[in-house]
Amino acid sequence: MSLFQLFKNIAPYVKPYRLLVFFTLVLTLIGSFTAQVNAWVLRYTVDQISALLEANQGLKEGMHILVTISVILIGKEILNSFITFGQNFYGEKLRIYVSRDLAQKVIDKILTYKLAFYTSGGNQPGKLQIRIDRGIESITRLVQNFFIDILPLSASAVVALAMMFNANFYVGLVGLCIVPVYFFVSVRQAKRLAGSRRNIRELRENKSQGILGILQSVMVIKSFIREDIESRKQLDLQNSLTAAQLRTRKISFLFDGLKSFIEQIGVVLIIILTAYLVLSGVMTIGAIMFHILLFNNVTAPIRQLHRIYDQMNDALIYSEGFFDILKADDQTEQSGSYISPKITGRFKVQDMNFTYPDNEEPTLHHINMDILPGKITALVGLSGAGKSTLINLLDKFYQPDSGVIYLDGVPLDEYNTSFLRDNIGLVLQKNHIFNGTIEENIMYGNPDATFEEVVHAARQSYIHDQIMALPDRYQTSALALSGGQQQKIAIARMFLKNPPIIFLDEPTASLDAVSTEQIKNSLDAIKKNRTVIIISHSISQIIDSDCIYVMKEGRVVERGTHEALYNMHGTYTEIFDAMARSLNIDKISKTLV
Ligand code: ATP
Repeated sequence: MSLFQLFKNIAPYVKPYRLLVFFTLVLTLIGSFTAQVNAWVLRYTVDQISALLEANQGLKEGMHILVTISVILIGKEILNSFITFGQNFYGEKLRIYVSRDLAQKVIDKILTYKLAFYTSGGNQPGKLQIRIDRGIESITRLVQNFFIDILPLSASAVVALAMMFNANFYVGLVGLCIVPVYFFVSVRQAKRLAGSRRNIRELRENKSQGILGILQSVMVIKSFIREDIESRKQLDLQNSLTAAQLRTRKISFLFDGLKSFIEQIGVVLIIILTAYLVLSGVMTIGAIMFHILLFNNVTAPIRQLHRIYDQMNDALIYSEGFFDILKADDQTEQSGSYISPKITGRFKVQDMNFTYPDNEEPTLHHINMDILPGKITALVGLSGAGKSTLINLLDKFYQPDSGVIYLDGVPLDEYNTSFLRDNIGLVLQKNHIFNGTIEENIMYGNPDATFEEVVHAARQSYIHDQIMALPDRYQTSALALSGGQQQKIAIARMFLKNPPIIFLDEPTASLDAVSTEQIKNSLDAIKKNRTVIIISHSISQIIDSDCIYVMKEGRVVERGTHEALYNMHGTYTEIFDAMARSLNIDKISKTLV
């Protein structure tokens, strides 16, 4: 990304604050003139004092010079402190506002993206997090530097250069010639460093993802005593990062040295030229200092660029990743406009194939299904058969490669996505509990629910009594609950949502036997008159279903009722027998008798 493209991307975010920008620019303009005052004052002082000394006059005659320059310099400093305050404060204000807007925009934007965006390898949480954080930080720093450092200094440089030309054309020319040489070297530097900076960005993203991985799996790491392996993995990343950083610094310092050398050559040329002109009688002696100070103002932004150069290039590299996130419009979730007056929940899947975005091989092959409204349909199959994937497609989280899914006779694509999901309740193997109270977590199912409704939902999912035993009851942090209790909160959320269609993906997998029985009873109650699709490895939940689909390696291989399927002596019989054997039914029945 070039600096021009970067500013084009940032412009919409700066635009709302154009008054702030205008005000800063006015201050910049005034500041660029006040910055030249010292040069004028010095020339005036040297020339006046030289003239007095030549005329053998002293302090008494020169007193008015001291008074004049004191008034001018102090007046200028007072004005300057207001200007500097204004520039710093308004520049910072701009940075904070733009930072807030960018952060909100990126969150709003990624919330509209498809699930595929989050599951693709380049967008793991740690990587996204650092790309967003660093992106916002470096972009807004650039905005601030632009208004506080680069712009005022550049304006001052242009004014100083104009004054040099005005005083003497040749001295002005020397000043002018140095600048393009300097910029040429700077551009070469940027090109040499772009690759290493990108590499550093990638390494930082991997490091962040690595740290997140360690924090999320710390129990597994400790239980396998694999602290050394994890530490070594991080050390490898850290070493690569250090090497890349040192390489970048080395190149930077080499170029910086070259740039300082060019600048000093400019100073030497100005001294020689002005001294020559003074000796030739073309200039007064005060002009030597005058030109050196002006040249100093010309090279000041260049010297400052040493400091802000890194930040600018960081902004260029990090903004690439950031704006890639912000502009991934192809990742936006599609929505139709169809809103049905009443959903009955009849799904028809016709010859559907599906491949995950990062995979080469399809996960689902030629799926045909007819899911009847108001009935319970079970999906049975070994791990990895594609059951959860199928549910993801019915909830429109992913789009099929080919084939069509109909709901009540209308293709799923045509449905308004929010409306569709409002009519589907989803309980997963592992449900997400948000940082907040139990009440807030249950209310996620219906933000408008009253407290009584929350309590009713908690009773239905058999968690109310346990909540009441907690010190802060419904105001206790939900993160403090056990896995099974959290699962019940998720089920309570669904009771509150009360949708006509329910997908249950192993809803009792993390519950104890008593809770499983309680939840089974309450699920039985909620299943009535709704379309339910249940994925389960529990015999009791499967045999209760009206229809069972058996999946194997991404295909539907059998369908029917429990009795019919069992008599086929196929995949279902195999799975069912294995389930029964794993339960040790022989021994259980002997015990129960
Ligand atoms: P289980 O009973 O273990 O939950 P399942 O039948 O629900 O298994 P799925 O979770 O649908 O199986 O997975 C089917 C296949 O799709 C697996 O091979 C899995 O590796 C793959 N898969 C699942 N999610 C993704 C994803 N986000 N990206 C790529 N591949 C995936």
